[in-house]
Amino acid sequence: MDERTAALIEKLETRHFLTLAEYESLIGYMIEKPASDRAKRTSEDESPTGHQADEAAALLAEKASAVRQRVYGRDVYIRGLIEISNICKNDCYYCGIRRSNHFCERYRLSEQEILECCAQGYELGFRTFVLQGGEDAHFSDELVCRLVGQIKRNHPDCAVTLSLGERSRESYQRMFDAGADRYLLRHETADKAHYEKLHPPQMSFDNRMRCLRDLREIGYQVGCGFMVGSPYQTARTLAEDLKFIDEFHPDMCGIGPFIPHQATPFAKEPAGTVELTCYLLSIIRLIHPNVLLPSTTALGTIDPQGREKGILAGANVVMPNLSPISVRKKYELYDNKICTGDESAQCRHCLEQRMESIGYHVVTDRGDVRGWEDSKQVGYERNA
Ligand code: SF4
Repeated sequence: MDERTAALIEKLETRHFLTLAEYESLIGYMIEKPASDRAKRTSEDESPTGHQADEAAALLAEKASAVRQRVYGRDVYIRGLIEISNICKNDCYYCGIRRSNHFCERYRLSEQEILECCAQGYELGFRTFVLQGGEDAHFSDELVCRLVGQIKRNHPDCAVTLSLGERSRESYQRMFDAGADRYLLRHETADKAHYEKLHPPQMSFDNRMRCLRDLREIGYQVGCGFMVGSPYQTARTLAEDLKFIDEFHPDMCGIGPFIPHQATPFAKEPAGTVELTCYLLSIIRLIHPNVLLPSTTALGTIDPQGREKGILAGANVVMPNLSPISVRKKYELYDNKICTGDESAQCRHCLEQRMESIGYHVVTDRGDVRGWEDSKQVGYERNA
């Protein structure tokens, strides 16, 4: 690895942020790898070899693991994911359940079904439930608040995370007042021009950012995130994502490889890679040592060992599926999604074994972000 890259990793480890140009350089080091490995490489070519990029990735992973170990030890938090509806009014170009996919068989879970998923999850040791769905008007504030309230009454020691897309500030406030603890809303990309290439004109980058700010101000533990390898993504747009993360200082950050879905405009686009996703997981851990960082199902979809690799790169969360098996296949955001045929208990035990195999332990814990108040203060001081 060259001296400049080693120095950037050192700086990231000690100061927890880089400039936009430095992030771009660090990402470029990994992204340039395939081109530089071609046979026509010349002696003047200063781009990194595959071996050098692997060295940088290994160093980042080593430092990220040490940091994660200091904050969270070898504990891995589990979240019980309940996919409550695959009906969505939006038409994001990358998404398998987008409105225009007429091949998608639509469903909604009833309140009773959702509560049963939580009860089953509780028995299996889950202490966080994530209600995720498309932007489905059926799930009104009134209905979501009733659900959240009931889950909290049934399981007072559990956290409820919502992932229901863009809503008004009033709506977020009502759901928070009803007891919701956390909200996941991937920002998708921090570059407005890139955002507009991934979404139809009816969708607004500014509104998405407004949502994230509102959620933070209301008091949720907030998660943002993006796909790795999405169409039109560059080292520059990824650098903007990292800069956004170091400034917004999210409590959670969901990143996974882009995987094309056959019934979308991006069907023929190449998928993202495990290597770049893990490289970015390590960088994000170094930016924000306390962040809750999932090793995603998408990572497990493109590589059978993907979720283990994500944990070894610095992640500390996995999200087994608690949705009823009858609907699992219908919530297909991308092609060949794994774990669509397994019972919740099987998913839970499979992940537990996978984590044990690499020396990590799934724990029964709400899994809140460590130093929640302190970390907000650090972010405030640094970015003031
Ligand atoms: S990505 Fe989310 S908002 Fe966009 S179409 Fe899919 S479910 Fe709807």
